[in-house]
Amino acid sequence: MDVQIVKGDITKVQADAIVNAANSSLLGGGGVDGAIHRAAGKQLLEECKRLRETTLKDGLPSGQAVATEGYNLPAKWVIHTVGPVFAKKTDRSDTLASCYRESLRVADEIGAKSVAFPAISAGIYGWPMDNATEIAVRTVQEADTSVETVIFVPFSNDAEEMFHEALGR
Ligand code: ADP
Repeated sequence: MDVQIVKGDITKVQADAIVNAANSSLLGGGGVDGAIHRAAGKQLLEECKRLRETTLKDGLPSGQAVATEGYNLPAKWVIHTVGPVFAKKTDRSDTLASCYRESLRVADEIGAKSVAFPAISAGIYGWPMDNATEIAVRTVQEADTSVETVIFVPFSNDAEEMFHEALGR
């Protein structure tokens, strides 16, 4: 697997699939979720609403992933996953790792060979960036998947540095 780090806006990335750090409602939010919905257009929200009315009546649990089309995005697909909220007293690292594994499993299902990830949980959900990037890189490298290219998309210089550090380990 080829692992790349490309700083910038994930909504601009040319990959078969981009991953959305969504919330359980799948009905949009702030951060990368808001940016993806704005760039993809309202059809994305409509497809998410349909998922909520059919297969995901209670929403998408954290650590799981589901695919939709990408609509106006350069990416063909959006894989929505819900990161865990960071908590000092409970170790939710397994759930964060599951977001990466499940996203790659869904990518395999839809035949996506290149997948771009933001730093899941490392924004509004409060996960420390150094640990979030470490879990991201390790989990992707250990995953059993047919995905050929993973692109990590840090949004800040700090995040970019930490992804490089994690990849260098
Ligand atoms: P979460 O709720 O999982 O923490 P956020 O969207 O708040 O999700 O943040 C996840 C990471 O995505 C943060 O590091 C944030 O800076 C970054 N981010 C926000 N907008 C974008 C974007 N357009 N492209 C890539 N990363 C983004």
